[in-house]
Amino acid sequence: MSFVFKPSLTASVTIKGSKHRFPVHRVYCVGRNYADHAREMGSDPEREPPFFFMKPADAILESGETLPYPQATENLHPEIELVVALDGGGRNISVKKAKKLIFGYAVGNDFTRRDLQAEAKVAGRPWDTAKGFDYSAAIGAIVPVKDAQINTECGIGLKVNGEFRQRAKLGDMIWTVAETISALSGLYELHPGDLIYMGTPSGVGPVKVGDVIEGSIQGLGTLTTPIGKPLK
Ligand code: MN
Repeated sequence: MSFVFKPSLTASVTIKGSKHRFPVHRVYCVGRNYADHAREMGSDPEREPPFFFMKPADAILESGETLPYPQATENLHPEIELVVALDGGGRNISVKKAKKLIFGYAVGNDFTRRDLQAEAKVAGRPWDTAKGFDYSAAIGAIVPVKDAQINTECGIGLKVNGEFRQRAKLGDMIWTVAETISALSGLYELHPGDLIYMGTPSGVGPVKVGDVIEGSIQGLGTLTTPIGKPLK
């Protein structure tokens, strides 16, 4: 096969304890998966099935890399999230079989242009510009399932310049990882390389140039993202 110009490199993520990298196929995100965050965003958590949006695969930003303050916003928010990395796929997967698709877990930050999201909500428009911008999918090293010591009691937290903004337990999620994979596979055919950002707890707020964002999940480590000057 020959291309008219050199195709872009496949986005990829570091795997803890491996010299191989995880090639990213798609980046899916779950909206409002913690009741207290759904409430702070003005929704009723009791009445919503999981819903999804996407980021482009090349929005991946690894731990330690600087996020240039994005264009077209004055209200950038990090959202600390558990990320599930798949090495299997399929359609209409049962909750029971969903766990077989999981390669590993990582700490993620779903960076959001909150002002654009608020405008989109009011206008009934898609969230793409609010969520799927360049470098918006921060992710730490993927910990393979066999090494990932996570359970519902594990803490998930976000610090800005050393101070906690968000704190919860993985067990606070409304939809479990298996339920989420099952629901998502009813909408899309899942593939090896897919990432799923599992939603954020309450406490979201703005960050600015010079801030250092540290997301952590017990058993998975820390994701560090300095916020840099906007790109020219
Ligand atoms: Mn999110």
